[in-house]
Amino acid sequence: MDIVQPLYLGVVGKPAFHSLSPPMHTAVMKKLGIKGSYLPFEVDDFEKAVIGAMGLGFRGLNVTMPYKEEAYRLADEVSDDVKIVKAGNTILFECGRIKVFNTDIYGFSESIKKAGFSADGKRVAVIGAGGAARSIVYSLVVSGAKVIHIFNRTYEKAVKIKEDIESCVGEKITIEVSGLNNIDFEDFDIIVNATNIGWNNENLYEVLGVYPRRRPKNSKSDKLFFDTIYVPTKFIAIARELGYSFLDGKWMLVLQGAMSFKIWTSVYPNENVMMKALNRAIKERYNQGRK
Ligand code: NAP
Repeated sequence: MDIVQPLYLGVVGKPAFHSLSPPMHTAVMKKLGIKGSYLPFEVDDFEKAVIGAMGLGFRGLNVTMPYKEEAYRLADEVSDDVKIVKAGNTILFECGRIKVFNTDIYGFSESIKKAGFSADGKRVAVIGAGGAARSIVYSLVVSGAKVIHIFNRTYEKAVKIKEDIESCVGEKITIEVSGLNNIDFEDFDIIVNATNIGWNNENLYEVLGVYPRRRPKNSKSDKLFFDTIYVPTKFIAIARELGYSFLDGKWMLVLQGAMSFKIWTSVYPNENVMMKALNRAIKERYNQGRK
């Protein structure tokens, strides 16, 4: 009997059971004929979970909120971009060591490119200052954004991202920071929702206390509203209704997942297989009852 060691993977977070990474990775493993499992783990003690998974012979893990910064702290080795953003979403167990990578940076920048947009020379508002925002801000620096302004409920967390990234990229760009209620959409070309607001059908514009103005008919100037959330949100629906370009977080999720899979297996998987599985799972789990 030919017994091949199964590939064990998973996603760790709190919450984690909502994650659609499991169907995406399961579809790719099936397509490639790889035996194994990708499972969600909702945990209170992140360190214990990671050490336990390593002990059980897992090849790797994805890390989701709120543990991306803890993944950085727990690492034995980190990639160069993780050193800068101080947050990781992909763990590889190799030779008894915890190696941490960040594929959200790739997922964000490539999803924007795939949709035909560029951050080069643009004024960008990033709403949120968690692990995802850290990766997005760094991705924007690398992509040549002209202005990056972080808006966050907890002001100090936005300041910390500014300090961490500016200290690594030097004079390249000045990152601005504000509390959540100071945004003027007219100041920006790209507006990114990197908060959790929208998963439960909440309206981010209500939380911000301001709506974008309707785009004038035949206006050449556009704005891109990008939501990291990959299920339908009011943030996107309203931007669309007001006449602006929009992009949800589905391609970001697929692309970060594809790059994580490559880190674990050396194989870059078929993105369309992942997207198809993601769309199916979203339809099954989320579309019912949403406006
Ligand atoms: P996180 O580290 O927990 O950060 C959450 C952020 O949301 C913080 O800035 C937090 O503000 C803010 N927030 C949460 N609830 C809020 C509320 N009621 N009012 C105001 N602000 C609130 O999480 P994360 O890992 O950065 O993830 C953030 C979002 O990005 C999530 O929705 C996640 O699903 C999404 N994401 C998507 C992808 C993708 O591939 N599409 C990848 C990564 C993340 P405070 O700092 O004030 O707490």
